[in-house]
Amino acid sequence: MRTLEHRVAAARAAWRRLAARRGGRSPARLAPARLVLRLDEGDLPGSLGPGSPLSPVAWQRALVSAVDWLGPVPVTVLAQRSAGGPLAGEVVRFAHRLECPTELSTDGTGIDARRALDLVDRGLRRLQVLVGGVSAEVHRAVVGAELEAATGAVQAAVAARAERGARLDVEVLVPWRAPAHTELRAVLGWARQAGADGLRLAPPWRGEGVPLDPELLDSLDDGADPFLRLDPAVMAALPALGAHQDGGPGLAKAHAPAARRRVPCPVGGQRLELTAHGRLLSCPFHPPIAQDLGAGDPGAGDAGGPDLARAWREAGPHLAAIRACDRACLAPELAPRSLFPTSAG
Ligand code: SF4
Repeated sequence: MRTLEHRVAAARAAWRRLAARRGGRSPARLAPARLVLRLDEGDLPGSLGPGSPLSPVAWQRALVSAVDWLGPVPVTVLAQRSAGGPLAGEVVRFAHRLECPTELSTDGTGIDARRALDLVDRGLRRLQVLVGGVSAEVHRAVVGAELEAATGAVQAAVAARAERGARLDVEVLVPWRAPAHTELRAVLGWARQAGADGLRLAPPWRGEGVPLDPELLDSLDDGADPFLRLDPAVMAALPALGAHQDGGPGLAKAHAPAARRRVPCPVGGQRLELTAHGRLLSCPFHPPIAQDLGAGDPGAGDAGGPDLARAWREAGPHLAAIRACDRACLAPELAPRSLFPTSAG
């Protein structure tokens, strides 16, 4: 029964992505294919002002409301520095209980052997760890955290997966930000050796600090190595991002490849993000759909938690701003991608 439910949810998600590519603007006809829970607003690419922090119960109610509305939707938990804390584990456990395939994105802080086993036992399907280099200096310059935390998290996750015989997918995410390019080849070799399942390049949210190294990009982009999870559309646009760094979101559409220029940004049909202070949004660069959902505003449900379906009905202006946007973002969180394309099933 649950398998059928997952198939229906996947078919709905595919339809939503198609509708989004056509530039859907009505919340009634467009619903997001993935739920993103941002546990730490410090990672937001822009400031959204003050708001009340969501309680653990409010996170749970938000998840229940999303599943009531969308079915067992894929969930991404963004917890760059807080993946070792109790809230991240609780959110992963609760999403798994609701049958949502769940990934956790982190810089590795706090993920030791015990924590990795705990996350596997709580049903995590993918752990995505930010790695900027193989030297402490380069990694710190790119990720802003300690290298041992990242490498330790990858190794702990690989060991936990083997110990439990679990289907955990372990992905290394390399921010495409200078000086990461100086050690990318070494990171690739290390990631394979450490037992990760794949490596993905992450262009920055904004057009700044992007390395100019077309030879390196060309040498990666032969399409023959499944370990390299390189989105062809992103790879095609990366040289333009390097050449036109204006500090805005992604790059100006006028500089993007023709395939990106022709269609409106599909982010409204791809992702719905709830942040630690109760903001609801698809794109972090336009005014949110709703603010302060944990504080009992009109988006809050009777039980006091965020009612995402109800809040989404007010998404019209947000979707219209997305449709009119003159940028082309490449960050993996914003660019089209399927959540579990490989061994994680
Ligand atoms: S391209 Fe899309 S994700 Fe980027 S700023 Fe515009 S609407 Fe937002």
